[in-house]
Amino acid sequence: MGIKILWDQQSPAGIQLPVSRLIAMLLDTETETIEYPLLVDGYDRERDQHDAQKILDRLQNTFIRRYAIAEPLLLVTSRDLFVNGCDFVFGLARPSCGAAVVSTARLDNAYYSRMPNDDDLIDRTAKEGAHEVGHLLGLGHCSNPECVMFRPRTLDELDRKKKMLCPDCSETLALRTCR
Ligand SMILES: [Zn+2]
Ligand SMILES: [Zn+2]
Repeated sequence: MGIKILWDQQSPAGIQLPVSRLIAMLLDTETETIEYPLLVDGYDRERDQHDAQKILDRLQNTFIRRYAIAEPLLLVTSRDLFVNGCDFVFGLARPSCGAAVVSTARLDNAYYSRMPNDDDLIDRTAKEGAHEVGHLLGLGHCSNPECVMFRPRTLDELDRKKKMLCPDCSETLALRTCR
């Protein structure tokens, strides 16, 4: 079973291939890259952010249906995301329909007035993208701060995670995907 990775046309250039490869390595699966043909909606003018739930609604109701997609689907976007009750989210997954979204907005050093670094952006996007797809594959949050399924609340917590699943999560994933 592969993973389809959709790229918002405004997502950062040049990171698609390395991010896709890292996600494939992290989850031990194949990835396919597709340019997202729709507009990313859910824009909230007051917050100047996009509602991640509305983005997933669109993926579920339009994209997955129209193209009859059965594989887990991850949209990578540069828009800053929120869900009701949170200032922001790095990403969001909806396992019931197999769709997830991850935002590069707060994964970029520029957001924190730090020196731009593509490798940082690639690593973080891969870790958070794999994290959301991990939810689609049945994984929950992990208490191991170095595991990709750990839920980071800050950039430093995200950077502390390694580009791997801990042994427990790896085992759970293997059990779930070999059925
Ligand atoms: Zn999570
Ligand atoms: Zn874990």
